[in-house]
Amino acid sequence: MSIKVGRWDCPVCGHKANLGPEKQCASCGSARPQNVKFYLASDAEIVKDESIIRQAKAGADWVCSYCNSHNKVNETHCHTCGNDKSVKDGDKSLEQKINYTDGRNENSKNASQNSKINVSKLPKVQISKKMKVGCLGTIGFLVLLFTSLFFTSQIEVEVSSFEWKRSLKVEKYIEVVEENWQIPQGGKQISSFEAVHHYNKIPDGTETKTRTVSVQTGSERVVVGQKDLGNGYFEDVYEDRPIYTEKEETYEETKYREEPVYKTKYKYSIFRWKDAGTFATKGKDKKPYWSEKFDSTNVNTRIKSKKASYFIIINEGKETHKEEISFEKWQKTTIGDKLKAKKSRFFGIYYGLVEK
Ligand SMILES: [Zn+2]
Ligand SMILES: [Zn+2]
Repeated sequence: MSIKVGRWDCPVCGHKANLGPEKQCASCGSARPQNVKFYLASDAEIVKDESIIRQAKAGADWVCSYCNSHNKVNETHCHTCGNDKSVKDGDKSLEQKINYTDGRNENSKNASQNSKINVSKLPKVQISKKMKVGCLGTIGFLVLLFTSLFFTSQIEVEVSSFEWKRSLKVEKYIEVVEENWQIPQGGKQISSFEAVHHYNKIPDGTETKTRTVSVQTGSERVVVGQKDLGNGYFEDVYEDRPIYTEKEETYEETKYREEPVYKTKYKYSIFRWKDAGTFATKGKDKKPYWSEKFDSTNVNTRIKSKKASYFIIINEGKETHKEEISFEKWQKTTIGDKLKAKKSRFFGIYYGLVEK
């Protein structure tokens, strides 16, 4: 617990580094000021003298309630005016306080030892003016581009021909062979056999392995700050910090072997609905029909799903466009009909029919 002598600067004459315990400025003789700020010089010597150490540890100085001068803790009367020791308002600068060198303040001395990073001290990311102007310019251009694409004009287009596509997915009810742990309803057994159903993990001895562990092998005293004793002296503040060492250690780990568990499995035949293909038709007229290339009268055949698309081909100036529309609208439309379509005003991009 080393004690060091602090220093203070005289606000009256500007004299630097008066010795901490001195009550008067060495240059002009002015009294040590109220709210004095004690500090440690980088080359402050460690006090060896036992009586000075005792004096330093005796306690903070006190302030005379009459003349405000500073007095040592063991003095019973003011050394300047002789007033009785009766501290009233005190002097904050004489309170004992710890200045941590790792950025903590005294209030947090009981908090965790791993002090957190002070966020306000982290450098901020700076964006240059040039970059800002560049970004704004690019954003402005994109906004202009998109808004101009939204300006559309209506045009009239003429229907020139029709197209259609239809398709059927068909399923057939056929006999298939399957294997399983049980025969489902409707299945006819063909054979049975033993097969691996799953594996059990059986402990099978141990294996010696090594791992690295962190072990506390001691502790070290670290100076974490200085305590301002309020009388011109400072005392080092220590903390005990654990020392960890990485160590290899061996341990036993259980090994396992996989043991198969057998059960009876069955081979059986059963009737199932299975995909029997897609039957598609298409045309460039207005007479759509569904394919009949499968036996629709067979009870072992059924339609799983139907899909249909209907298109009109339209002329717009020199361009032609193929548009898919609803079946109802497709039926009502005839060649030569005029329909309304949208086009972008600035770039002439065709956007399609207004109603589909
Ligand atoms: Zn002075
Ligand atoms: Zn006094």
